[in-house]
Amino acid sequence: MDHLRWLERECLAFDTVQLHDLERYMGIVGAEVHMPLREPWRVGKRPYGRSALSIAASCLKGFYLHQASSASMRTSVRSSTTRLPSRVDRRRSLLGHVKSVMPANPLAPKGPHRRHPKMLPDGAREKLLETVNSARDRMVVTWLADGGLRIGELCGLHLVDLHRRENADCNECGSPHLHVCHRPGNPSRAEAKTKHSWQVEHGRSPAG
Ligand SMILES: [Zn+2]
Repeated sequence: MDHLRWLERECLAFDTVQLHDLERYMGIVGAEVHMPLREPWRVGKRPYGRSALSIAASCLKGFYLHQASSASMRTSVRSSTTRLPSRVDRRRSLLGHVKSVMPANPLAPKGPHRRHPKMLPDGAREKLLETVNSARDRMVVTWLADGGLRIGELCGLHLVDLHRRENADCNECGSPHLHVCHRPGNPSRAEAKTKHSWQVEHGRSPAG
């Protein structure tokens, strides 16, 4: 929607928009581009972060692919300016599909992409293990990396959750494992977000 409004402000029509217009749009919402952006846009709002830029790039790409592929689409998109939320939601799911089919997108943010904001970047584990100075901290680093536990899940472990021997009493699993339980009210205030308990055996979780 922001892009449609911007097009209107720039007096650009769908069928005349060029790639450099789209790059300029990406720049004006927060991407690093080397070109004049002309008049300010979204005044007083924060520039998009990386993930918002990725989403915007996917949306633009899918939007213009469909523009190009269907003239009737043009009318429906134009009329969508008055019916914003449901259209946007539908378009987003549509574009998710387009994106997986065609990963290359000249508008997408460039540079290394961290796997997940809460996950360690590559090589961090080795550096952390060199730096930490207690067995507990070494265990924390190792278990987080090997077990795929979330921090809240690790901090919320109780001794009874650790079945680190063969044929534990729970009879749920023959090999050593641990249980991640949804257990509100921990003294540490740590809480596993998962609603379903899961377990790690032989260093990997059955769910993958
Ligand atoms: Zn068990």
